[in-house]
Formats: sequence, structure tokens, C-alpha cells
Amino acid sequence: MATDRTAVIGFPVDHSLSPIIHNHWIKELGLDIKPYEKINVDPNKFEEQINKLKAEGYGGLNVTVPLKELAFSISDETSSVSKKLRSVNTLSLNFEKIDGDNTDAVGFINSLDEKTIENNITNKKTLVLGAGGSARSLVYALNELGGHVRLFNRTLEKAQILLDDLSINSSPVGAEELDDYANSSSFIVNTTSLGQKAGEHNNILRFENIEMETFIYDLIYNPKRSSFLEQAEAKGLKVQNGLRMLIEQAACSFQIWHEIKVGVSEEIMSLLESV
Ligand code: NAP
Repeated sequence: MATDRTAVIGFPVDHSLSPIIHNHWIKELGLDIKPYEKINVDPNKFEEQINKLKAEGYGGLNVTVPLKELAFSISDETSSVSKKLRSVNTLSLNFEKIDGDNTDAVGFINSLDEKTIENNITNKKTLVLGAGGSARSLVYALNELGGHVRLFNRTLEKAQILLDDLSINSSPVGAEELDDYANSSSFIVNTTSLGQKAGEHNNILRFENIEMETFIYDLIYNPKRSSFLEQAEAKGLKVQNGLRMLIEQAACSFQIWHEIKVGVSEEIMSLLESV
């Protein structure tokens, strides 16, 4: 399916880096299509605005907060992962129907080295901090990779709901056992938004007794080194930010719309790191 007009929709969407990523590939491949745009879509007028964009010729839309659940609800057909997550980040507006997919989980998996999956996730204890939209994809992905996943969230009930929704046989980590569980985990990922704003410090975990082999991941990519990763790095732990995941999930959407597999080159990594 050729998709002439593509964009990311959100509310607000002004800070999205997706146009830089998609337009880099559109230019690199010399595709004869319109540049990828960013469009604010009011959640209260969601369906109406999607139909308007469809009529204007948009064929592919990435969907960001807070619209992913709405995108799921208006899709005529959804992928199995979208059904599981009840969330859509990639809409394909075809003539006769709307298809919804979710590339966040696979984007996260593709962002990991095989060695990290083998040494730190499969059959290992893993810990997810947060229970929002992205935590859902992460818990799903870690479980798919064979990790024993538990999660901690400021609002504990939300962690239990997430596990129940995904039918994952696990339990939330309470505040009193957080340090002990973290100290025996091989992979820890922060999916909270804490640390994204300037000067904001993520002190959810104490890093003193975290094992040296433990891999620390933060979904935040701006700042490049969040306070969470800074603390881990200061202890000499292996760390990764969310930039590669962002590009990998975009690559999956790009492939869905344009049927072209794009790679995550050093060029695009440094392009985004310099933003
Ligand atoms: P979300 O649905 O709004 O969830 C936010 C989570 O952060 C909730 O669990 C919330 O806890 C927690 N939280 C917020 N402020 C907190 C605080 N002060 N102390 C402790 N916990 C706090 O957000 P999201 O969509 O999951 O996104 C989360 C982060 O991931 C954002 O920074 C986003 O940019 C990033 N992200 C990155 C990628 C990528 O590709 N790299 C993809 C998606 C998201 P409560 O439930 O208690 O409110």
C-alpha cells in the first residue's frame, strides 16, 4: 500500500521527534510523497478529525499520548498485540477500513542487543517502574522475551490492573520490597515520566546495592542522560536511553505503510542526539 501523506497525531504533539525520523527516511530513499507532519488532534473530536484527515488523503498516522486508546477504539481491524494492549500507535487509513497496530513493544525489543536479552531478560528477574501506557508495552515485551516481570508504581492499584489486563501471572512490587527486588533483578526499566522535565530527579530506586551485571534502561530520551541513568552510570552499570526504541518503533510503522524495511543508522542516531 502506497501512503502519500503521513503524520503523527497527539495532544499536544509539538515536541514530537517523529517528523525528523520519518522525513530522514523519506529523503534518504527519495520517496515521491509529502513530508511527514505533526498534527494536534483534540481527543473530544477524535473520530471526526480522523475522518477529516482520511478525506484529505492521509493514509498513515502515528498516534501518541493521550490518543492511543481512542485510536484502538476506532480501528476496524487491529493486530494481535494491539488487542492485547488495547492501544494503537499506528493507524493505516485505507479506503474501506482503518487498521490499527502497535509498534512500541516490538520497537523496544528491536532496541535491545541479543546479548542483553539472553543475559539479562530471558528467565531472569526484570523490574518495570511505572504502570502507564508505555509500561503496558514494556511488560508485554519483557514477558514475550521470557523475563519474569514485576512492576512498581506510585499508584499500586494501577500496577495490579495492568498485570490483570495482560493476564500476566505476577504481582506488583510494594514500596517496602522495592529495594530488595531491584537488588536481585537483572534488568530494570524506568517507564515513568519522572526525570523528563528540567531539574526533575528520579529517586524511585536506591542504586547502592544493585548488582553490577544489571542492565538499566530508561524510556526517556530527552534529556539524553536522565537522572535515573546518571545514577546508574555513576555506579558503573550498563545503561540505555529510549532513543533507539523511538527510532525502532518508527521503523516498524514506516514498514507497515511503505513496505520498506529501514535500518537504524548511526547517522539517524546522531541526528536525533543533536536535537
Ligand atoms: P503515562 O501513561 O502518563 O504514565 C506515566 C507513569 O509515570 C505512571 O506510572 C505515573 O504514575 C508515573 N509517574 C509520573 N510522575 C511521577 C512521579 N512524580 N513519581 C512517580 N511516578 C510518576 O506516560 P507514558 O506514555 O507511559 O510515558 C512515560 C515516559 O516514557 C514518558 O517520558 C515518555 O516520553 C516515555 N516514552 C518513551 C518512548 C520511547 O520510544 N522511548 C515511548 C513511549 C513513552 P501514576 O500511575 O502513579 O500516576
